[in-house]
This record gives sequence, C-alpha cells and structure tokens, in this order.
Amino acid sequence: MGIRHPLVHEIARDTYLINEFGLCNHYVLVGSQRALVIDCGMGYYDMVALIATITDKPYDVVITHGHPDHAGMMHQFDQVYMNEADLPLLPWAAKTDFNLDEFVWNNRLHVGDWQVWEVTEDMVNRGHKDTQVLSLHEGDVFDLGNRKVTAYALPGHTKGCMYLIDDMSRIAFTGDCCNYNLGSRDVAVSTVLRGLLRIESQYGILYDRMFTGHSTYCGTLDVKANDIAVVRNLIGAYRSLLNGNPEIGWKRMQLFPDRPPHKVVLYGPEVQYPHENARGPMVCAGFNEELLWEEGEEHIVP
Ligand SMILES: [Zn+2]
Repeated sequence: MGIRHPLVHEIARDTYLINEFGLCNHYVLVGSQRALVIDCGMGYYDMVALIATITDKPYDVVITHGHPDHAGMMHQFDQVYMNEADLPLLPWAAKTDFNLDEFVWNNRLHVGDWQVWEVTEDMVNRGHKDTQVLSLHEGDVFDLGNRKVTAYALPGHTKGCMYLIDDMSRIAFTGDCCNYNLGSRDVAVSTVLRGLLRIESQYGILYDRMFTGHSTYCGTLDVKANDIAVVRNLIGAYRSLLNGNPEIGWKRMQLFPDRPPHKVVLYGPEVQYPHENARGPMVCAGFNEELLWEEGEEHIVP
C-alpha cells in the first residue's frame, strides 16, 4: 500500500510546499490579506480542496511555465496567471481528457516505478473549468498584504519561463528555470546565460533559498532547497557553449530512461540523485547548438 495523498510541508512561516506524489512541487504562500499559489501540478488530486485546508484567504494562481507537471491542474481554477509566450503549450499541457496510463507514462520514475506512492484512475483530477489565462509579466507584483511576491522572466526551459521571489520568506520559486532539467531548445544560449547571471546576482540580496518545481525529485520524501551551486554550474555550462569549449556528453534523461541518450553539456561535480538513471555530472539536456546567439547580437560572452 502506497501513499495516496500529496504531502504538505511548511518550508517557511505561512509558506507551504505540496509534494505531488514525488513528481513535482507546488507552493501556497499565505499573506495577511491574500494568498498565492505557485504552479498547479500534474493532476492526481483535488487541489482546490487541499488549498482550502491551508488557507481561507482569497488567492491567485500563478504558473511558472506551460508544462504538464506545472499547469496540469489549471482547469480546477477560474483563472491563472502565466506568461503569454507559453500559451501554445497549454492545449497539450493542461488537456482535461487524461487517463492514468498517460500519467504513468509521464511519471514512470515517480509513480509508475516507485513503491512509495499509490495512484489509481479514480484520483486523476485535471479539472473541467473554462479557465481564463491572465498575462504574467516581468515585474508583476502579487501583494498579499504583509508580503509581496515579484515575478521575473528567465526564458530557456520554455520561452515563457518565470520565477517568483517572496520578500517575506526570501525564497525564490523557480519552477524549472534553473534546475538540472533546464534545457534550452528554443531560446538562444546567450539569453539563457544572461537570465542565469541575473538570478545568481539576486542570491543573498533578494532571496536566500531557492525551491524549484522538483526539489523532491525522483520520489524522495525529504524537502531540500535547490543549491545555488546548481545555478553556478549552469552558468559555467552555458558559458562553455558560447566560448566554444563545452564538454559534450551523452546522457539519458532521468524522466525517460528508455529513450536514446541526449547530447548534453557536462559541467560541475558529480550529482547524486536518488534514482539510478539520474546519477552523473551536471546536465543541460536539449540545448540547441544552432541557437547560441540572438540574431545580430555581438558575440561577447557575458
Ligand atoms: Zn518543465
């Protein structure tokens, strides 16, 4: 028998991480006037009901990017905020006719292959509302009363990737914009690098801890912040691409170990993930060698 409900952890005062069956994390920040929900997971449970057990304040929902493990339950809500650049991803990422086979395929290392969790068809809940998607922009501020949460853009993992910094907990909520799954297929490497340099420069000034969309990656039960060293390793990796001296390797993605290996940049120290397939040096899966610089940009490595 496995765990059949998401786990809720308080990671700072009035700041809650919801671990959705080891796959992904989303967050609820409760202020004196309003609350804010950051990301809305994959769709194994009634998220609206769970939020109601955490707060009775009115709240906004903000989605860091348009992938199914971040936008998957958006149709449980009347409206969500998301960067318009990721709108083309939503018909796939948040489709409501989803069955358990698709969930297991998406989550093979988490739910499908991992004995801690137990998810059954009756738990699938993507919602069915005609959800309005409101634009999220760089610099938008969610005023919760006694705390303010500011949105920043960091295109790379997707074109519309955003992160949020909360001035009370001093936590940056970064979705997938600067974890080991960053990738950058559709965004120039130079642009990703500038975004990484900016978020690194905000460390210790605007935030002290960073939580990603997957801080309990691969089914672990513990709750850890993302080490700033991850961001610094990514900066090194992306710089090496622009400098023309990357250490290229071939690596299977931890989410899809049965797919052929991807061409990746190896950088930084050995990283231990709990799962066998996720061991190895730093990986930026899926970078685009044809898209190192923006068109017309001077080739000066930032
Ligand atoms: Zn993603």
